[in-house]
Amino acid sequence: MVQSLEQALKQFFGYDRFRPGQRQIIEQAIKNKDLLVIMPTGGGKSLCYQLPALLKPGLTVVVSPLIALMQDQVDSLVDNGIGATFLNSSIDWQEMRSRQEQIINGKIKLLYIAPERLLTSRFIEFLDRIARKIGIATFAVDEAHCVSEWGHDFRPEYRQMIQLRRRYRKVPTIALTATATKRVRQDIIEQLGLKNAIVHISSFDRPNLYYEIRPKNNRSYQVLLNYIRNNQKAGIVYCLSRRSVDEIAFKLQKDGIKALPYHAGMEEADRTSHQNRFLRDDVQIMVATVAFGMGINKPDVGFVLHYDLPSNLERYYQESGRAGRDGEPAQCILFYSAGDTRKIDYFIEQKEDPQEQRIAKQQLNRVVDYAEGLECRRTVLLSYFGEKFAGNCGRCDNCLNPKPIEDWTIEAQKFLSCVARCKEKFGIVHIIDVLRGSKKKKVFQYGHHLLSTYGIGKDKTIAQWKVLARALLNQNLVGETTDGYRVLKLNKASWEILRKQREVHIAVNKRSDSQSLVDAYVSETEILFDRLKSLRKYIADRNSVAPYIIFADSTLKLMARSKPQNPEEMGRISGVNQYKLEQYGDRFISEIRDFCATQKPPVPLPTHSQTITLQFHQQGLNPQEIAKQRGFFPTTVYTHLSELIEMKQPVNLDRLVEKERQKIILDAIKKNGSESLKTIREHIGKSYSYDEIKLVRAWWKREQE
Ligand code: ADP
Ligand code: ZN
Repeated sequence: MVQSLEQALKQFFGYDRFRPGQRQIIEQAIKNKDLLVIMPTGGGKSLCYQLPALLKPGLTVVVSPLIALMQDQVDSLVDNGIGATFLNSSIDWQEMRSRQEQIINGKIKLLYIAPERLLTSRFIEFLDRIARKIGIATFAVDEAHCVSEWGHDFRPEYRQMIQLRRRYRKVPTIALTATATKRVRQDIIEQLGLKNAIVHISSFDRPNLYYEIRPKNNRSYQVLLNYIRNNQKAGIVYCLSRRSVDEIAFKLQKDGIKALPYHAGMEEADRTSHQNRFLRDDVQIMVATVAFGMGINKPDVGFVLHYDLPSNLERYYQESGRAGRDGEPAQCILFYSAGDTRKIDYFIEQKEDPQEQRIAKQQLNRVVDYAEGLECRRTVLLSYFGEKFAGNCGRCDNCLNPKPIEDWTIEAQKFLSCVARCKEKFGIVHIIDVLRGSKKKKVFQYGHHLLSTYGIGKDKTIAQWKVLARALLNQNLVGETTDGYRVLKLNKASWEILRKQREVHIAVNKRSDSQSLVDAYVSETEILFDRLKSLRKYIADRNSVAPYIIFADSTLKLMARSKPQNPEEMGRISGVNQYKLEQYGDRFISEIRDFCATQKPPVPLPTHSQTITLQFHQQGLNPQEIAKQRGFFPTTVYTHLSELIEMKQPVNLDRLVEKERQKIILDAIKKNGSESLKTIREHIGKSYSYDEIKLVRAWWKREQE
């Protein structure tokens, strides 16, 4: 049977369409080409070797560096009814034997293995047997950047893999990674001995991610908390230090959020347990240092919040990229303050090697550019990877709410001159107090109420002055001591401003940062989606797997929207293949049917008598004529027509009530409610009949649904 790749995709994985790049890569993989695939996280790399593995004869050997990753991938495959297994140190001798048996008997299409085991002489012997008996289809090297010293997770064992290349010359290799620098790419090709490798580089753009910067200040925790409360999805909060991880996790728990900490200072067992509880949706939030991430394959993370500043942009890209791997809309929000920059600066200054110091500073500057920039965030982020993005993405805060730039030169002069008059011995708060003519004791103590700048800034609020002060610091137009007192110091640029040699432009943020992200309106679809999620969680717990292994969020959403009521309809949903249908179809279908049964009854059909009235209406008779024909009182006909309208039958209201009059009646309904015809009539006067009002009210009710 000749089967198209699309058919195979649906059969094995249940998906309808390839993601960008996948089809091309798969075609080349089937032709046994050596490939280097560079795709951002969530791009769908796994499918690029998994589908060819199913279409080619023989065993595909997948080299993967982390036990957790292997387990996850194999769980997903097995749950799609695909023969897959892994061999690593977590399984005992007997299990190992039984799995090897399965492999030799051709029951397995994909074998996941760690590099160090792959290269033992024992395993090579086993590979030889496989090669003779069933054939090796492909070596797939996942996280291939581990082969390079220039990458961020160098694994010396990866270097040995070239031996396989030499031993099995005809077997093609496909290397995959999400790390992009040129240097690493070159290394992968050389170290793995790829021949005439086709390099496939996908765009690093993650179109489903939304990027935003929020100011970090003393209200940020509250903003964070509200955000999490309003956003029911799983999320990661990244913090800089172990201490702040513990602190934020503790506060969130106290505020009723299911959150757990994760950092390198914790016991291994606790870390694993916290990670698993996050993967399985037992907790909503993982508060973590950078120690958390690599090997986290959870596809349905709805947001990644950086509560502290990351030290470089690549890191930010990778960490924020853990959101929305499933392609669903997800948010990446960075809380930024100039103070954080100075904290990191301080750490950098502790570095001994001046070269290292310089690089670190440069990298930090790129982060600051990103956070303070007024241009499209996506453009800035992608330019870091050498990718040009044509600006205005429409999915970042700067594109959605371009901030107006204002000339604040005069205010800056006032501020800086106040700093000068206070003899460069005070911080922001005090300077603002003086400018605004505060009656605080401290101001009088120092005699600052006698300064010429006392009270000259009453026209601006404290918040506005703070915005200016921060902008001056960020643009390096004033300095600040790093000894913990944060005393403002004038620098060269400050004096240029004071001498009117330099202008000051700042972005004024008119938006409040407590922006509501919730839509109070919860639709029927969302309620059903929640129910399907609970069912998924229940099944997942029973099977000891993560919920996303059963069905992706996007698949559940499609179910909630189109409410399939039988296996045939269910099988058409993207993400449901034959195997999943057999495993879970019934339970999800009955949940959906249950839900539909408890919803409002379906609109009833007209009675026989009503149908006749409708036919007369459609022939052009007016209600009086219909009444005469049928020997009814006109009111009965009006009642029929009103009920027909509510049943969404084709009654032409405009022929029954003049447009002008409809409008007035509608207004009255909106003001007085639809309960009492009498109240409505009292409102608009006796020239309107109950019959007319009844018709319009029926139309209004129907529109409310
Ligand atoms: P990567 O390894 O590149 O980070 P994965 O291979 O883990 O990404 O894929 C990310 C998610 O996208 C997974 O949940 C996967 O099932 C899903 N996915 C992959 N390809 C498709 C597709 N063609 N259609 C729908 N979902 C897909
Ligand atoms: Zn943008």
